[in-house]
Amino acid sequence: MQAAVSIEESDATPPAFDPRDKQDIYRVAAETMNLIHRHDALPDPVAYAVWFAYAANTNTGLVEAVSRKLTKGQNLSQFELNDIYSQFLEDNSTSEKSQQLGLEFEGSMSVVSGLILESLKNNDSFRATLEAVGERIPNAASSQEIDDIVTRLVTENQKMSATMRELDKGLSESQAQIKKLNSELEELQKLSLRDPLTEVANRRAFDAFMAKLVEQAETSKQTFCLAMTDIDHFKRVNDTLGHQVGDVVLKGFSTVLRRNTKGQDMIARCGGEEFAIVLPDTGIVAAHNLMVRIAQSVRDTRLVSNEDHDKIGRVTASFGVCEFKPGTTADDLFERADMRLYSAKRAGRDCVRSDLTP
Ligand code: GH3
Ligand code: MG
Ligand code: MG
Repeated sequence: MQAAVSIEESDATPPAFDPRDKQDIYRVAAETMNLIHRHDALPDPVAYAVWFAYAANTNTGLVEAVSRKLTKGQNLSQFELNDIYSQFLEDNSTSEKSQQLGLEFEGSMSVVSGLILESLKNNDSFRATLEAVGERIPNAASSQEIDDIVTRLVTENQKMSATMRELDKGLSESQAQIKKLNSELEELQKLSLRDPLTEVANRRAFDAFMAKLVEQAETSKQTFCLAMTDIDHFKRVNDTLGHQVGDVVLKGFSTVLRRNTKGQDMIARCGGEEFAIVLPDTGIVAAHNLMVRIAQSVRDTRLVSNEDHDKIGRVTASFGVCEFKPGTTADDLFERADMRLYSAKRAGRDCVRSDLTP
């Protein structure tokens, strides 16, 4: 007897999709809506694109990324959907752009090396002429012969200065082009490290920064702290006021975090409405007190929607803070700060829990 597999219970990887087969398109579209519904996502273009690509099974990386999340038994949050979308369906533009810039760099460099080769060739011919002239002058018998030598020297000299002018012009054009490409590349690099919605650092930038701080702390014995914060009852904001207002709240929240931190600190978005605050050169007492001030500042901030100037109201957030301990990893610190954050949630939210609190 064949085992019955219920679609309701299974998120097994679907069969391959044939885009020329009308029946198959309807099958995948129906399965997409089914997945959206089952995972409680909004049927917006991003969610549709991600679940369609998953149902169609045409993008291996995307299917693997979604499957990994599903095996953890979680629904995909809006943030995770956006993340997967930009990684597999949209963000190609960033890597395409950087590939394009790479090609342009190669182009500029080959122009430069071409110019240098050309000038070396001319240099060789100039040197050969000078050598020939050098040999002929002592043996020159008539003024006619000397005239000839001088004319040849003048011609060669003119050719050489024309080459030098060309080279100069070509090099400064290439220099300007390389400068422009460099600043475009820098801009692209910044974009790939920033969360597009809130414009704070993204998880990739956070991981790199943490790795650097752990290394520094191990060698220089300089301490640092990590705070994790998460907006309280954020689901309610989305459910009662809608996702767009939810996005405005996320932006407002990250602005409050930024206003309360200084130059070397990093604010990063690590999950949907979960942010990290990394505080280099800061001990646990100062970090704890700063989070208490930020919690107050979040509580005091009246959020307003930019589009219609409607008042959104206030939100609160919970905080978990830990200090780095030598001999431990960035992941250990992240886990400890996250555990403290969940203690703050369990303690009733809108509060700070740290190494200093029970
Ligand atoms: P708690 O106080 O325990 O943190 O409750 P909560 O409702 O804030 O927590 P939960 O983690 O259950 O909900 C987080 C919500 O954040 C669910 C998810 O849809 C939403 N979310 C995640 N990313 C985004 C986003 O980019 N925009 C919007 N508007 N909502 C998002
Ligand atoms: Mg929350
Ligand atoms: Mg959360």
